[in-house]
Amino acid sequence: MAVVAVAMTMRERRAPFMRRSVLAFPVAAALACVVAAQNASEYDFLIKGGRVVDPQNKLDGVRDVAIKDGRIASIAANIAPTRALKAVDATGLIVTPGLIDIHVHAFFGGENDSYAGGGWSIDPDSFAPASCVTTITDAGSSGWRNFESFKDRIIDRSKTRVTAFLNIVGGGMGAGSIEQNTQDMEVKPTADMAAKYKGVIVGIKSAHYNGKDWIPYERASEVGRALKVPVMVDFGGNVEAGRTLEELFTKHFRAGDIYSHMYGGRRGEQDQKTNGPSEGMIEGRRRGVLFDVAHGGASFMYRTAVPLLKAGFLPDSISTDLHTSSMNSAMKDMLNVMGKFMAMGMPLEQVLLRSTSVPAKMIQLPELGHLSVGAPADVAVLRLQKGRFGFTDPVGGLIRAAQRLSCEMTVREGKVIYDLNGMIAQPWETLPSDARGGDPKWDFTRGHGRRPGR
Ligand SMILES: [Zn+2]
Repeated sequence: MAVVAVAMTMRERRAPFMRRSVLAFPVAAALACVVAAQNASEYDFLIKGGRVVDPQNKLDGVRDVAIKDGRIASIAANIAPTRALKAVDATGLIVTPGLIDIHVHAFFGGENDSYAGGGWSIDPDSFAPASCVTTITDAGSSGWRNFESFKDRIIDRSKTRVTAFLNIVGGGMGAGSIEQNTQDMEVKPTADMAAKYKGVIVGIKSAHYNGKDWIPYERASEVGRALKVPVMVDFGGNVEAGRTLEELFTKHFRAGDIYSHMYGGRRGEQDQKTNGPSEGMIEGRRRGVLFDVAHGGASFMYRTAVPLLKAGFLPDSISTDLHTSSMNSAMKDMLNVMGKFMAMGMPLEQVLLRSTSVPAKMIQLPELGHLSVGAPADVAVLRLQKGRFGFTDPVGGLIRAAQRLSCEMTVREGKVIYDLNGMIAQPWETLPSDARGGDPKWDFTRGHGRRPGR
Protein backbone atom coordinates (compact mmCIF):
# COMPACT_ATOMS: atom_id res chain seq x y z
CA MET A 1 0.00 0.00 0.00
CA ALA A 2 2.78 2.43 0.94
CA VAL A 3 4.56 1.92 -2.39
CA VAL A 4 1.38 2.63 -4.32
CA ALA A 5 0.73 5.78 -2.31
CA VAL A 6 4.24 7.12 -2.94
CA ALA A 7 4.02 6.35 -6.67
CA MET A 8 0.73 8.18 -6.93
CA THR A 9 2.06 11.19 -5.12
CA MET A 10 5.04 11.45 -7.46
CA ARG A 11 2.83 11.15 -10.51
CA GLU A 12 0.50 13.84 -9.27
CA ARG A 13 3.39 16.13 -8.45
CA ARG A 14 4.63 15.68 -11.99
CA ALA A 15 1.31 16.50 -13.63
CA PRO A 16 1.29 20.32 -13.22
CA PHE A 17 4.84 20.53 -14.57
CA MET A 18 3.75 18.56 -17.64
CA ARG A 19 0.88 20.92 -18.28
CA ARG A 20 3.16 23.99 -18.16
CA SER A 21 5.63 22.25 -20.48
CA VAL A 22 2.94 21.65 -23.09
CA LEU A 23 2.57 25.39 -23.52
CA ALA A 24 6.30 26.16 -23.61
CA PHE A 25 8.12 23.42 -25.54
CA PRO A 26 6.95 21.32 -28.54
CA VAL A 27 9.28 18.45 -27.59
CA ALA A 28 8.05 18.42 -24.04
CA ALA A 29 4.50 18.57 -25.42
CA ALA A 30 5.10 15.45 -27.52
CA LEU A 31 6.62 13.70 -24.53
CA ALA A 32 3.69 14.78 -22.38
CA CYS A 33 1.30 13.25 -24.94
CA VAL A 34 3.13 9.94 -24.77
CA VAL A 35 3.08 9.98 -20.98
CA ALA A 36 -0.58 11.04 -20.97
CA ALA A 37 -1.49 8.21 -23.36
CA GLN A 38 0.26 5.72 -21.09
CA ASN A 39 -1.40 7.21 -18.04
CA ALA A 40 -4.78 7.35 -19.75
CA SER A 41 -4.90 3.59 -20.03
CA GLU A 42 -4.28 3.19 -16.33
CA TYR A 43 -7.98 3.73 -15.54
CA ASP A 44 -11.01 3.75 -17.82
CA PHE A 45 -13.20 6.04 -15.73
CA LEU A 46 -12.63 8.33 -12.77
CA ILE A 47 -15.25 9.92 -10.51
CA LYS A 48 -13.58 12.84 -8.76
CA GLY A 49 -14.32 14.80 -5.63
CA GLY A 50 -17.56 13.22 -4.46
CA ARG A 51 -18.48 12.33 -0.90
CA VAL A 52 -17.90 8.59 -1.03
CA VAL A 53 -20.23 6.72 1.31
CA ASP A 54 -19.45 3.00 1.33
CA PRO A 55 -21.24 1.62 4.41
CA GLN A 56 -19.74 -1.88 4.21
CA ASN A 57 -16.22 -0.45 4.28
CA LYS A 58 -17.21 2.19 6.86
CA LEU A 59 -16.00 4.92 4.55
CA ASP A 60 -17.56 8.38 4.48
CA GLY A 61 -15.31 11.08 3.06
CA VAL A 62 -14.27 12.97 -0.05
CA ARG A 63 -12.45 10.57 -2.36
CA ASP A 64 -11.83 9.83 -6.02
CA VAL A 65 -13.07 6.50 -7.42
CA ALA A 66 -11.06 4.97 -10.26
CA ILE A 67 -12.43 2.17 -12.43
CA LYS A 68 -10.64 -0.23 -14.76
CA ASP A 69 -12.08 -3.13 -16.79
CA GLY A 70 -15.42 -2.90 -15.03
CA ARG A 71 -13.99 -3.11 -11.51
CA ILE A 72 -13.10 -0.67 -8.77
CA ALA A 73 -9.38 -0.05 -9.23
CA SER A 74 -8.63 2.58 -6.58
CA ILE A 75 -10.32 4.77 -3.98
CA ALA A 76 -8.04 7.59 -2.93
CA ALA A 77 -7.72 11.32 -2.44
CA ASN A 78 -6.64 13.26 -5.53
CA ILE A 79 -6.19 10.78 -8.35
CA ALA A 80 -5.00 12.87 -11.31
CA PRO A 81 -7.58 13.05 -14.13
CA THR A 82 -4.83 12.42 -16.69
CA ARG A 83 -4.57 8.85 -15.39
CA ALA A 84 -8.03 7.96 -16.77
CA LEU A 85 -9.58 7.83 -20.21
CA LYS A 86 -12.42 9.88 -18.77
CA ALA A 87 -12.77 11.83 -15.55
CA VAL A 88 -15.96 13.41 -14.20
CA ASP A 89 -16.44 15.93 -11.41
CA ALA A 90 -18.76 14.75 -8.62
CA THR A 91 -18.09 17.65 -6.25
CA GLY A 92 -21.07 18.11 -3.94
CA LEU A 93 -22.56 14.73 -4.83
CA ILE A 94 -22.71 11.41 -2.99
CA VAL A 95 -20.85 8.50 -4.55
CA THR A 96 -22.04 5.17 -3.22
CA PRO A 97 -22.39 1.55 -4.36
CA GLY A 98 -25.02 0.97 -7.06
CA LEU A 99 -28.35 0.47 -5.32
CA ILE A 100 -29.81 -3.03 -4.99
CA ASP A 101 -33.58 -3.44 -5.01
CA ILE A 102 -34.49 -7.02 -4.13
CA HIS A 103 -38.24 -6.75 -4.73
CA VAL A 104 -39.31 -5.78 -8.25
CA HIS A 105 -41.68 -7.27 -10.84
CA ALA A 106 -39.85 -7.14 -14.16
CA PHE A 107 -41.29 -10.00 -16.25
CA PHE A 108 -43.28 -7.67 -18.48
CA GLY A 109 -45.12 -8.82 -21.59
CA GLY A 110 -48.43 -9.06 -23.35
CA GLU A 111 -50.55 -11.00 -20.84
CA ASN A 112 -53.41 -9.14 -19.20
CA ASP A 113 -53.62 -8.79 -15.40
CA SER A 114 -50.43 -10.77 -14.82
CA TYR A 115 -46.97 -10.28 -13.33
CA ALA A 116 -45.78 -13.32 -15.32
CA GLY A 117 -45.15 -12.09 -18.85
CA GLY A 118 -47.77 -9.44 -18.33
CA GLY A 119 -48.80 -5.84 -18.02
CA TRP A 120 -48.40 -5.63 -14.26
CA SER A 121 -44.62 -5.97 -14.56
CA ILE A 122 -42.24 -3.25 -15.71
CA ASP A 123 -39.20 -3.12 -18.00
CA PRO A 124 -36.14 -2.99 -15.70
CA ASP A 125 -34.26 -0.46 -17.83
CA SER A 126 -37.26 1.89 -17.76
CA PHE A 127 -36.80 2.43 -14.03
CA ALA A 128 -33.62 1.09 -12.48
CA PRO A 129 -30.85 3.19 -14.09
CA ALA A 130 -32.79 6.45 -13.61
CA SER A 131 -33.04 5.74 -9.88
CA CYS A 132 -29.37 4.71 -9.50
CA VAL A 133 -30.33 1.04 -9.10
CA THR A 134 -27.83 -1.32 -10.74
CA THR A 135 -29.23 -4.65 -9.53
CA ILE A 136 -32.83 -5.73 -9.17
CA THR A 137 -34.30 -9.02 -8.04
CA ASP A 138 -37.59 -10.03 -9.55
CA ALA A 139 -39.71 -11.28 -6.66
CA GLY A 140 -41.28 -14.42 -8.06
CA SER A 141 -43.00 -13.18 -11.21
CA SER A 142 -41.80 -16.33 -13.00
CA GLY A 143 -41.91 -20.00 -12.05
CA TRP A 144 -40.06 -22.95 -13.55
CA ARG A 145 -42.43 -23.13 -16.54
CA ASN A 146 -41.72 -19.60 -17.76
CA PHE A 147 -38.39 -18.56 -16.18
CA GLU A 148 -36.40 -19.25 -19.34
CA SER A 149 -38.67 -16.98 -21.36
CA PHE A 150 -38.09 -14.27 -18.73
CA LYS A 151 -34.35 -14.86 -18.88
CA ASP A 152 -34.07 -14.84 -22.64
CA ARG A 153 -36.38 -11.91 -23.27
CA ILE A 154 -35.53 -9.62 -20.37
CA ILE A 155 -32.75 -10.72 -17.99
CA ASP A 156 -30.15 -11.25 -20.73
CA ARG A 157 -31.09 -8.08 -22.62
CA SER A 158 -31.18 -5.52 -19.84
CA LYS A 159 -28.51 -3.01 -18.92
CA THR A 160 -29.76 -3.41 -15.35
CA ARG A 161 -28.46 -6.55 -13.61
CA VAL A 162 -31.57 -8.68 -13.15
CA THR A 163 -31.71 -11.59 -10.71
CA ALA A 164 -34.81 -13.50 -9.63
CA PHE A 165 -36.61 -15.35 -6.91
CA LEU A 166 -38.25 -18.30 -8.66
CA ASN A 167 -41.88 -18.76 -7.70
CA ILE A 168 -42.83 -22.10 -6.16
CA VAL A 169 -45.82 -21.95 -8.53
CA GLY A 170 -44.72 -23.35 -11.91
CA GLY A 171 -46.65 -20.67 -13.79
CA GLY A 172 -45.36 -17.88 -11.55
CA MET A 173 -47.56 -14.91 -10.75
CA GLY A 174 -50.00 -15.54 -13.55
CA ALA A 175 -53.51 -14.21 -14.01
CA GLY A 176 -56.58 -15.48 -12.15
CA SER A 177 -56.17 -18.22 -9.56
CA ILE A 178 -52.85 -19.63 -10.81
CA GLU A 179 -51.11 -18.78 -7.52
CA GLN A 180 -53.71 -20.76 -5.52
CA ASN A 181 -53.12 -24.01 -7.43
CA THR A 182 -51.16 -26.28 -5.09
CA GLN A 183 -50.96 -28.90 -7.89
CA ASP A 184 -48.53 -26.58 -9.67
CA MET A 185 -46.25 -26.14 -6.62
CA GLU A 186 -43.73 -28.83 -7.44
CA VAL A 187 -40.42 -29.23 -5.66
CA LYS A 188 -38.36 -31.06 -8.26
CA PRO A 189 -38.84 -28.96 -11.40
CA THR A 190 -38.52 -25.78 -9.31
CA ALA A 191 -35.29 -27.04 -7.73
CA ASP A 192 -33.93 -28.18 -11.12
CA MET A 193 -34.55 -24.77 -12.70
CA ALA A 194 -33.11 -22.91 -9.70
CA ALA A 195 -30.00 -25.12 -9.77
CA LYS A 196 -29.56 -24.66 -13.53
CA TYR A 197 -29.43 -20.87 -13.15
CA LYS A 198 -28.01 -20.51 -9.65
CA GLY A 199 -26.63 -17.00 -9.20
CA VAL A 200 -29.30 -15.57 -11.50
CA ILE A 201 -32.02 -17.35 -9.57
CA VAL A 202 -31.09 -16.27 -6.05
CA GLY A 203 -33.99 -17.68 -4.05
CA ILE A 204 -37.51 -19.13 -4.02
CA LYS A 205 -40.72 -17.13 -3.62
CA SER A 206 -44.17 -17.82 -2.31
CA ALA A 207 -46.81 -15.11 -2.56
CA HIS A 208 -50.49 -14.24 -2.46
CA TYR A 209 -51.63 -17.63 -1.14
CA ASN A 210 -55.04 -17.66 0.51
CA GLY A 211 -55.47 -21.32 1.50
CA LYS A 212 -55.55 -22.55 5.11
CA ASP A 213 -52.78 -25.11 4.58
CA TRP A 214 -49.01 -24.61 4.51
CA ILE A 215 -48.27 -26.33 1.20
CA PRO A 216 -46.61 -23.35 -0.59
CA TYR A 217 -44.30 -22.65 2.36
CA GLU A 218 -43.41 -26.32 2.87
CA ARG A 219 -42.53 -26.77 -0.79
CA ALA A 220 -40.66 -23.46 -1.12
CA SER A 221 -38.67 -24.28 2.03
CA GLU A 222 -37.81 -27.72 0.71
CA VAL A 223 -36.30 -26.18 -2.43
CA GLY A 224 -34.56 -23.46 -0.43
CA ARG A 225 -33.01 -26.00 1.94
CA ALA A 226 -31.88 -28.26 -0.90
CA LEU A 227 -30.21 -25.45 -2.82
CA LYS A 228 -29.11 -23.40 0.20
CA VAL A 229 -30.88 -20.30 -1.12
CA PRO A 230 -33.31 -18.05 0.76
CA VAL A 231 -37.08 -18.28 0.61
CA MET A 232 -38.97 -14.99 0.31
CA VAL A 233 -42.58 -14.92 1.46
CA ASP A 234 -45.46 -12.57 0.83
CA PHE A 235 -47.81 -14.07 3.43
CA GLY A 236 -50.98 -13.60 1.35
CA GLY A 237 -54.32 -13.95 3.05
CA ASN A 238 -52.93 -15.39 6.28
CA VAL A 239 -55.37 -13.67 8.60
CA GLU A 240 -58.50 -15.05 6.94
CA ALA A 241 -56.82 -18.44 6.58
CA GLY A 242 -55.73 -18.52 10.23
CA ARG A 243 -52.01 -18.97 9.52
CA THR A 244 -49.73 -17.10 11.93
CA LEU A 245 -46.36 -15.40 11.65
CA GLU A 246 -45.12 -17.44 14.64
CA GLU A 247 -45.77 -20.68 12.82
CA LEU A 248 -44.25 -19.41 9.56
CA PHE A 249 -41.07 -18.28 11.31
CA THR A 250 -40.67 -21.19 13.71
CA LYS A 251 -41.78 -24.15 11.58
CA HIS A 252 -41.03 -23.17 7.98
CA PHE A 253 -38.34 -20.47 7.88
CA ARG A 254 -34.62 -20.88 8.36
CA ALA A 255 -32.17 -18.11 9.23
CA GLY A 256 -31.69 -16.04 6.09
CA ASP A 257 -35.24 -16.48 4.78
CA ILE A 258 -36.97 -13.21 3.97
CA TYR A 259 -40.28 -11.80 5.14
CA SER A 260 -41.66 -9.26 2.63
CA HIS A 261 -43.94 -6.28 3.24
CA MET A 262 -42.78 -5.98 6.86
CA TYR A 263 -44.55 -2.64 7.38
CA GLY A 264 -47.79 -3.64 5.63
CA GLY A 265 -49.57 -4.02 8.96
CA ARG A 266 -52.14 -6.52 7.70
CA ARG A 267 -50.62 -9.85 8.70
CA GLY A 268 -49.93 -9.65 12.39
CA GLU A 269 -46.76 -7.54 12.30
CA GLN A 270 -47.93 -5.28 15.13
CA ASP A 271 -48.67 -5.94 18.77
CA GLN A 272 -52.35 -5.12 19.33
CA LYS A 273 -51.69 -3.16 22.52
CA THR A 274 -48.39 -1.35 21.94
CA ASN A 275 -48.49 -1.02 18.11
CA GLY A 276 -44.83 -2.08 18.22
CA PRO A 277 -43.56 -5.33 16.72
CA SER A 278 -45.62 -8.44 17.51
CA GLU A 279 -44.19 -11.42 19.38
CA GLY A 280 -44.04 -13.24 16.05
CA MET A 281 -41.87 -10.56 14.44
CA ILE A 282 -39.54 -10.45 17.46
CA GLU A 283 -39.22 -14.23 17.52
CA GLY A 284 -38.54 -14.26 13.74
CA ARG A 285 -35.73 -11.77 14.07
CA ARG A 286 -34.29 -13.70 17.02
CA ARG A 287 -34.13 -16.77 14.78
CA GLY A 288 -32.40 -14.92 11.92
CA VAL A 289 -35.36 -14.20 9.68
CA LEU A 290 -34.60 -11.17 7.49
CA PHE A 291 -37.14 -8.41 6.98
CA ASP A 292 -37.70 -6.60 3.69
CA VAL A 293 -39.68 -3.38 3.11
CA ALA A 294 -41.24 -4.25 -0.30
CA HIS A 295 -43.33 -1.07 -0.25
CA GLY A 296 -45.61 -1.84 -3.21
CA GLY A 297 -48.97 -0.28 -3.88
CA ALA A 298 -50.42 -0.94 -0.42
CA SER A 299 -47.80 -2.74 1.66
CA PHE A 300 -46.20 0.12 3.58
CA MET A 301 -48.12 2.13 6.19
CA TYR A 302 -46.74 4.89 8.41
CA ARG A 303 -49.06 3.66 11.16
CA THR A 304 -47.05 0.41 11.12
CA ALA A 305 -43.59 1.61 10.09
CA VAL A 306 -43.25 4.52 12.53
CA PRO A 307 -44.08 2.53 15.71
CA LEU A 308 -41.90 -0.40 14.59
CA LEU A 309 -38.97 1.90 13.79
CA LYS A 310 -39.42 3.67 17.14
CA ALA A 311 -39.21 0.28 18.82
CA GLY A 312 -35.97 -0.38 16.96
CA PHE A 313 -37.44 -2.86 14.48
CA LEU A 314 -35.49 -1.66 11.44
CA PRO A 315 -35.62 -3.23 7.97
CA ASP A 316 -32.77 -5.46 6.83
CA SER A 317 -33.38 -4.39 3.23
CA ILE A 318 -35.15 -1.40 1.74
CA SER A 319 -36.95 -2.36 -1.48
CA THR A 320 -39.73 -1.09 -3.71
CA ASP A 321 -42.04 -3.91 -4.89
CA LEU A 322 -42.07 -1.95 -8.13
CA HIS A 323 -44.86 -2.81 -10.57
CA THR A 324 -47.37 -0.86 -12.62
CA SER A 325 -49.72 -0.30 -9.66
CA SER A 326 -47.01 0.98 -7.31
CA MET A 327 -44.88 3.02 -9.73
CA ASN A 328 -47.05 6.16 -9.61
CA SER A 329 -48.45 5.66 -6.12
CA ALA A 330 -46.93 6.54 -2.74
CA MET A 331 -44.03 4.22 -3.63
CA LYS A 332 -42.69 5.77 -6.91
CA ASP A 333 -39.13 4.43 -6.97
CA MET A 334 -36.18 3.23 -4.87
CA LEU A 335 -34.90 6.72 -4.06
CA ASN A 336 -38.36 7.81 -2.93
CA VAL A 337 -38.59 4.84 -0.56
CA MET A 338 -35.09 5.58 0.74
CA GLY A 339 -36.05 9.24 1.19
CA LYS A 340 -39.06 8.12 3.18
CA PHE A 341 -36.83 6.31 5.67
CA MET A 342 -34.65 9.43 5.98
CA ALA A 343 -37.82 11.44 6.61
CA MET A 344 -38.70 8.98 9.40
CA GLY A 345 -35.32 9.69 11.00
CA MET A 346 -32.95 7.04 9.66
CA PRO A 347 -29.46 8.45 8.96
CA LEU A 348 -28.29 8.46 5.33
CA GLU A 349 -25.49 5.95 5.95
CA GLN A 350 -27.99 3.50 7.48
CA VAL A 351 -30.38 3.95 4.57
CA LEU A 352 -27.57 3.27 2.09
CA LEU A 353 -26.38 0.20 4.05
CA ARG A 354 -29.88 -1.29 3.73
CA SER A 355 -29.99 -0.49 0.00
CA THR A 356 -26.56 -1.83 -0.94
CA SER A 357 -24.44 -4.37 0.94
CA VAL A 358 -27.13 -5.91 3.16
CA PRO A 359 -29.49 -6.81 0.28
CA ALA A 360 -26.45 -8.06 -1.70
CA LYS A 361 -25.71 -10.56 1.07
CA MET A 362 -29.39 -11.50 1.37
CA ILE A 363 -29.35 -12.64 -2.28
CA GLN A 364 -25.96 -14.27 -1.77
CA LEU A 365 -24.07 -11.94 -4.11
CA PRO A 366 -21.58 -10.53 -1.58
CA GLU A 367 -19.30 -9.19 -4.32
CA LEU A 368 -21.95 -6.50 -4.89
CA GLY A 369 -23.05 -3.58 -2.73
CA HIS A 370 -19.67 -2.07 -1.81
CA LEU A 371 -16.77 -0.20 -3.40
CA SER A 372 -13.90 -2.44 -2.38
CA VAL A 373 -10.98 -2.52 -4.81
CA GLY A 374 -11.61 -5.43 -7.18
CA ALA A 375 -15.39 -5.38 -6.78
CA PRO A 376 -17.65 -4.90 -9.82
CA ALA A 377 -17.77 -1.15 -10.47
CA ASP A 378 -21.48 -0.58 -9.84
CA VAL A 379 -21.72 3.01 -8.67
CA ALA A 380 -24.53 5.41 -7.83
CA VAL A 381 -23.91 9.14 -7.93
CA LEU A 382 -26.65 10.76 -5.87
CA ARG A 383 -27.67 14.32 -5.13
CA LEU A 384 -28.99 15.18 -1.68
CA GLN A 385 -31.50 17.86 -2.61
CA LYS A 386 -32.56 20.46 -0.07
CA GLY A 387 -36.01 21.98 -0.26
CA ARG A 388 -39.66 21.35 0.67
CA PHE A 389 -40.60 17.77 0.00
CA GLY A 390 -43.28 15.29 1.07
CA PHE A 391 -43.45 11.52 1.34
CA THR A 392 -46.81 9.79 1.36
CA ASP A 393 -48.16 6.37 2.23
CA PRO A 394 -50.90 4.44 0.41
CA VAL A 395 -53.70 5.68 2.70
CA GLY A 396 -52.85 9.36 2.24
CA GLY A 397 -50.49 9.80 5.18
CA LEU A 398 -47.82 12.48 4.75
CA ILE A 399 -44.42 13.18 6.27
CA ARG A 400 -42.84 16.46 5.23
CA ALA A 401 -39.11 16.58 4.69
CA ALA A 402 -36.36 19.07 3.90
CA GLN A 403 -34.26 16.69 1.83
CA ARG A 404 -34.61 14.01 -0.81
CA LEU A 405 -32.22 11.92 -2.85
CA SER A 406 -32.09 12.08 -6.63
CA CYS A 407 -29.98 10.19 -9.15
CA GLU A 408 -27.29 12.01 -11.14
CA MET A 409 -25.36 9.12 -12.65
CA THR A 410 -25.50 5.33 -12.67
CA VAL A 411 -22.52 3.14 -13.51
CA ARG A 412 -22.79 -0.59 -13.97
CA GLU A 413 -19.58 -2.63 -14.24
CA GLY A 414 -17.65 0.50 -15.13
CA LYS A 415 -20.00 1.74 -17.83
CA VAL A 416 -22.24 4.76 -17.47
CA ILE A 417 -25.85 3.65 -18.04
CA TYR A 418 -27.53 6.88 -16.90
CA ASP A 419 -26.30 10.48 -16.80
CA LEU A 420 -28.98 13.03 -15.88
CA ASN A 421 -27.09 16.30 -16.26
CA GLY A 422 -24.38 15.42 -18.74
CA MET A 423 -21.45 14.73 -16.44
CA ILE A 424 -19.83 12.71 -19.24
CA ALA A 425 -20.70 15.18 -21.99
CA GLN A 426 -19.05 18.41 -23.13
CA PRO A 427 -20.35 21.65 -24.67
CA TRP A 428 -21.74 20.70 -28.08
CA GLU A 429 -19.87 23.50 -29.86
CA THR A 430 -16.55 21.89 -28.90
CA LEU A 431 -17.35 18.51 -30.41
CA PRO A 432 -15.84 17.40 -33.72
CA SER A 433 -18.37 17.11 -36.56
CA ASP A 434 -18.10 13.31 -36.58
CA ALA A 435 -18.64 12.91 -32.80
CA ARG A 436 -20.39 9.68 -31.82
CA GLY A 437 -20.42 9.96 -28.03
CA GLY A 438 -18.06 8.56 -25.44
CA ASP A 439 -15.68 5.62 -25.55
CA PRO A 440 -17.59 2.33 -25.22
CA LYS A 441 -15.10 1.45 -22.47
CA TRP A 442 -17.06 3.74 -20.16
CA ASP A 443 -20.10 5.06 -22.07
CA PHE A 444 -23.11 2.76 -22.36
CA THR A 445 -25.76 5.45 -22.54
CA ARG A 446 -26.33 5.23 -26.26
CA GLY A 447 -28.27 2.69 -28.25
CA HIS A 448 -29.56 -0.65 -27.11
CA GLY A 449 -27.75 -3.78 -26.29
CA ARG A 450 -27.01 -6.50 -23.88
CA ARG A 451 -25.83 -6.04 -20.35
CA PRO A 452 -22.54 -4.18 -19.89
CA GLY A 453 -20.67 -7.22 -18.63
CA ARG A 454 -20.88 -8.96 -22.02
ZN1 LIG B 1 -44.19 -8.20 -5.01
